[in-house]
Amino acid sequence: MKNTWFARKGSLRFYQLLISGLVASIAVNTTLTASAQTSLETSLRSYFCNPANTNNENWCNASTAQMWDRIGGESAQFINGVNSGDRWQADMPADVYNVYKSLSTIIFGQERYVNSGYAYDQSYFDWYKAKYGVGKWHAGLDIAAPSGTSVRSATSGTTTMIQNASGNYFIGVKADDGKLWIYGHLSSYSVALNTRVNAGQLIGYTNGSNHLHLEVQNTHTYQPTYGAHVDRGWLLQVTISPLEAYAQRLTSTSPSPLAFVNGSSRPYIDANFINLTVSASNLAGKQVYVQMWRPAVGSNPAREWNYSRVAPSTSITFQDLDGIGGTFAGVDYYTVASLNPIPPGTAALRRTACYTATGGQQLCDRVRR
Ligand SMILES: [Zn+2]
Repeated sequence: MKNTWFARKGSLRFYQLLISGLVASIAVNTTLTASAQTSLETSLRSYFCNPANTNNENWCNASTAQMWDRIGGESAQFINGVNSGDRWQADMPADVYNVYKSLSTIIFGQERYVNSGYAYDQSYFDWYKAKYGVGKWHAGLDIAAPSGTSVRSATSGTTTMIQNASGNYFIGVKADDGKLWIYGHLSSYSVALNTRVNAGQLIGYTNGSNHLHLEVQNTHTYQPTYGAHVDRGWLLQVTISPLEAYAQRLTSTSPSPLAFVNGSSRPYIDANFINLTVSASNLAGKQVYVQMWRPAVGSNPAREWNYSRVAPSTSITFQDLDGIGGTFAGVDYYTVASLNPIPPGTAALRRTACYTATGGQQLCDRVRR
């Protein structure tokens, strides 16, 4: 939303951060325990009960939910966040900030800085009022990301179109925990609509506004905020701070998806067979899932195949994946291997080299003869 800020204040800082982001290795928590959740709540309370952090506003008796709403409400609370003269200047507690760092890293592969906070960013409100005549509160986080930056889903779920505007798409993911994650200001999107995606899967690319609008709503049914709303009370009902939403994901007790360790997959094709060999140092004894897809060929419709077998060792070969006697020349066959069930349509996304982007959860290849 606040692209004018980026031009005015953001560019030098952006390049400084880009460099530091490339050099620094980012520690990412992928799982937190219930005790980590308690510890986050303790950190929030300790932060909010120090009047020096809250510009003497009384937040010490607020509920944990209210503290989550408020923390990160101003860009200046993020480390290296844009300091736009907001009222609270204190950085957020380190473990809360780690939640943001983890969130930024699953979406972008690195920590990126925040130029508008959630729901309480006074300078966003003022900027909106100056531009449109009426002030509105921000419905999410704006994260700086130059045009063309890859945006990946923070959660697994089902894709849905929120704003179908050429060059300015908003794509939603109806997450498995019941929330709606919205990725806004995309020049293009890379997912099929109404299709399963995994956490870490590519959604699309940022547009010339040079930032991602990240918004999380409390139900799968989109409430039209269009990114901001005049009534903050309503906004806090309909949306949730992306930080709190991601902290819930990190502290959830549902089993984490399995990732390959040192994984690789190698397809083989000749006139009769397509085989896929999957290798990983943690493969032995695990259920391995493979999906293959090819586009339509002449009168033969597009087709998907799915297989699952237990690996006898650190390597397993799935033989004759197409199973129909002969392969088509000059046709690309796309494969996905995983230690978790593979949602239908995944191979049809035509990815290759997806290992890093999926956090090691999938291996993607393409083969043709
Ligand atoms: Zn925004």
